[in-house]
Amino acid sequence: MNISDMLKEKRTLLSFEFFPPKDLESESVLDETVSKLRRFDPDFVSVTYGAGGGTREKTIDWTLRIKNEHQLNVMMHLTCIASSSGDINDIVNKLKEEDIRNILALRGDPPRDFPEDRKKMDFTNAYQLVEYIRDLNGFTVGVAGHPEGHMEAPSIDRDMDYLKMKVDAGADFIITQLFFDNNYLYDFMDRAAAARIEKPIIPGIMPIVNISQIRKFTQMCGATIPERIVKKMEGRTIEEMTDVGVQYATEQCLELLSFGVKGLHFYTLNRNQATERILDEIAGEIKV
Ligand code: FAD
Repeated sequence: MNISDMLKEKRTLLSFEFFPPKDLESESVLDETVSKLRRFDPDFVSVTYGAGGGTREKTIDWTLRIKNEHQLNVMMHLTCIASSSGDINDIVNKLKEEDIRNILALRGDPPRDFPEDRKKMDFTNAYQLVEYIRDLNGFTVGVAGHPEGHMEAPSIDRDMDYLKMKVDAGADFIITQLFFDNNYLYDFMDRAAAARIEKPIIPGIMPIVNISQIRKFTQMCGATIPERIVKKMEGRTIEEMTDVGVQYATEQCLELLSFGVKGLHFYTLNRNQATERILDEIAGEIKV
């Protein structure tokens, strides 16, 4: 089902993000995770795509596997950096054939050792991919938003101008990069409204279950980890850190729901436990 229709019909969407597993053992972990999270009846789940096409086949396989075997509505992520329009055309046609109607259109971050001359092909930024997919018709197109500004953006205002370009190119909704202080989201939404961006904004939530792992992520995307979480987690065991992280994310989600966000998108990292614990607390607050 097209996410754009759901956005019109429902007050709050619930979604989970997964990445394509690398080996057989992680494949069964993901199958189990998807099976366990299914009970929350997500509106859609999404499968990430390795920039530069590194996970192309696996991303497509998992998108189809989750749709066909787990019977869930799926959105496939698609990155455009280092891709030709022919590559994109082939993938989008395959999705159409398989009745996958939702794409998250991204620029992507190519791996560090990726050859310079392959970084720029037919697309340099996500807005061009949005335009390209939009011309092929029939898809709901989501894009990424960066509440604290994208790390490479010359300024937070310019970053918002570029988000507006993605929306003007035809994006239907925005999913945000992870953030741990809701004020970043509220400020982002105010700035988006001032820029006349009227498409729904769905916050991306990542429960912190391990402070060193989350530091690695936030270094890559520029999100700020509040000092109060760091203090609570320092010197704790993994189980204790998980308890702190789950409680923090539960409170964060409850506040976002009472603020009236259009959805919650969980970065699950292919694990179900933290997301399940949070949803067991908040599911009753998600308005359909
Ligand atoms: P863009 O919108 O192209 O922005 C990238 C940078 O270029 C920004 O600094 C922006 O300010 C600037 N910019 C934009 N337009 C212009 C322009 N016209 N002129 C000059 N500068 C411009 N990465 C993956 O590799 N695979 C995934 O599956 C994946 N999934 C993600 C899912 C979500 C929900 C989010 C939030 C991010 C995801 N990412 C993924 C990460 C994403 O690819 C990176 O954050 C990437 O660095 C930026 O992608 P973008 O689509 O926001 O790029």
